[in-house]
Amino acid sequence: MILDGKQIAGEIQQEIKQALSSGHTRMPCLAVVLVGENPPSVIYVNRKTKACAEVGIKSIKKELPANIAEKALIEEIEQLNNDPAVDGILVQLPLPHHLNPMNVIQHINAEKDVDGQHPENLGKLFMGDTDTFAPCTPLGIKVMLERSNIDVSGQHVLVIGRSNLVGKPMAALLMQTGPGANATVTVAHSRTKNLKEIAMTADVIIAAIGQPKFVTADMVKPGAVIVDVGINKIDDSTKGTGYQIVGDVDFDAVKDKCSYITPVPGGVGPMTIAMLLSNTYKSFLRRQAIKSQT
Ligand code: NDP
Repeated sequence: MILDGKQIAGEIQQEIKQALSSGHTRMPCLAVVLVGENPPSVIYVNRKTKACAEVGIKSIKKELPANIAEKALIEEIEQLNNDPAVDGILVQLPLPHHLNPMNVIQHINAEKDVDGQHPENLGKLFMGDTDTFAPCTPLGIKVMLERSNIDVSGQHVLVIGRSNLVGKPMAALLMQTGPGANATVTVAHSRTKNLKEIAMTADVIIAAIGQPKFVTADMVKPGAVIVDVGINKIDDSTKGTGYQIVGDVDFDAVKDKCSYITPVPGGVGPMTIAMLLSNTYKSFLRRQAIKSQT
């Protein structure tokens, strides 16, 4: 069965739109910082700002030159930190090589870090805080599973990939106590031995690798739940574009063996955007509440 991230994300966007339709004196505002013109980043940023407009969130796009100095980029971020009209700040990754993402991200005010990448928010996540800003892709996967009534409590979840953006926070979210969590988590990476054997014991596989069709049918236990995070461009002369987008899972081979599977596109991607909107709305509500107390 298909796990329809696109549909669930649409429902979440409707809920936010509804909540914003009355009773607020201003719109929430998300600032997206784009450094350079990396084509996939340009596409992702446009999708994010379009989704903001659809639900009633204002967005500011800060487009900065690829050769910007780190100090100048940090100054731009600090301006957004100090702007009372800005509720959320997202720095689109990856950054050009001369910029240190860890250094840049830690200059975002943690209270506006709606992408959940600031060390303070990641630290809180690892300490079990269920109310911090969690990174949007893993949060979206957790919400998608919950809304699809897939209970991971006590299940063996294999996360393949250990990036700060997806793999590590995914494991942290699923290890937490509380609804949608309490899983037994294994994290695999490029140095993992016997991955196929480990994968065969997993009730849920979350693939965040960046290798087209890496997870094959012989790695999947019958009835397992498969979440495909990967977005890979492969040559395909049968398409007008000359390429197609595929995930990290061999969808056609795996779909009849598993119980649930996310498509690429239309699975995890839309959930990532829905969580960005949801985190921005959460920041807006928090900041409004603080303002009304002062
Ligand atoms: P990274 O490149 O940062 O991390 C990839 C991870 O996969 C690393 O931990 C790496 O291991 C591991 N890996 C690579 N090769 C293998 C292998 N042969 N066996 C086991 N593990 C392997 O990628 P991201 O986490 O940022 O993204 C992963 C994928 O998800 C990409 O395709 C990306 O485009 C996509 N993505 C999709 C999003 C969405 O919204 N749908 C959002 C974010 C990402 P090691 O650490 O040892 O190098």
